[in-house]
Amino acid sequence: MTLAATVIDGKAVAAEVRARVAGEVTELAAELGRPPGLATVLVGEDPASAIYVRRKREACEEVGIRSFHHEPPGDIPQEELLALVAELNANDEIDGILCQLPLPGGLDADEVINALDPAKDVDGLTPSSAGLLSRGDPAGLVPCTPSGVMELLAHAGVDPSGAEAVIVGRSNLVGRPLYSLLLGADATVTTAHSRTADLGEVCRRAEILVAAAGRPRLVTAEMIRPGATVIDVGTNRTDDGLVGDVDYAPAAEVAGAITPVPGGVGPMTIAMLLDNTVKAARG
Ligand code: NAP
Repeated sequence: MTLAATVIDGKAVAAEVRARVAGEVTELAAELGRPPGLATVLVGEDPASAIYVRRKREACEEVGIRSFHHEPPGDIPQEELLALVAELNANDEIDGILCQLPLPGGLDADEVINALDPAKDVDGLTPSSAGLLSRGDPAGLVPCTPSGVMELLAHAGVDPSGAEAVIVGRSNLVGRPLYSLLLGADATVTTAHSRTADLGEVCRRAEILVAAAGRPRLVTAEMIRPGATVIDVGTNRTDDGLVGDVDYAPAAEVAGAITPVPGGVGPMTIAMLLDNTVKAARG
């Protein structure tokens, strides 16, 4: 098998973003008289969530962002979790707040997200952040994974303007905000989802194809327009290890450029979280 596509190296692009952010953190710390601060809230003991939060905190340390970590038990009452959010909202040393999702059963994640101060909403999930983004207003904070996708496209030299873009997935975390970002960049955007009648036909239109469905190898080579740029957001743990939503090896024979899993979008999510924390600290 020959690999026709250019591989978009998310690790390398993320390292560039982190280096830029580290410089900005140094300047900002001098201006503010304190380092920018990110609060992380890990509720309960979900092992995957614990790994994600640890990586985020380590990445903060590397660039000089101070991290404030809270680890309430999984059975914390909703009111106590809301009180913690209120305390973090009020803390002047904290510029960003990240509440790792999913929350344990019994807790209302929407209510927790709605309680975040939008100025500290570094995951870009509050209704205020989502509303500003959907209006094309740059004042709000943008979810990290979709902004990481845009950064990867820019580094790959792919201009969305006038391009046919297809996103598979319509979650609040990835698909919907990415729709707004690609539309804002003047792409003609289609969003596919689980009720899309003919996914292959829709995907084959795409010059930019983003897979964010959480279904291992859902996007096959036959669904890809030759030469398309394929961004694989999916991270699926299978018996074969971590795989994306794209059937990578055959897809790479058809695509013009493609992100691997791991090493594509994943590292960008953390890099953009650091970037958002600096943006939040600037106010
Ligand atoms: P999600 O909330 O489960 O949303 C999945 C979306 O995909 C839904 O809109 C769903 O459609 C659609 N979908 C599911 N099966 C489909 C199918 N067979 N055909 C077409 N569409 C289908 O997931 P998410 O939070 O957006 O995450 C998506 C994937 O990205 C997951 O694998 C997740 O682990 C990964 N992810 C990775 C990163 C990273 O940093 N690399 C960050 C975030 C997420 P309906 O709306 O109709 O149900």
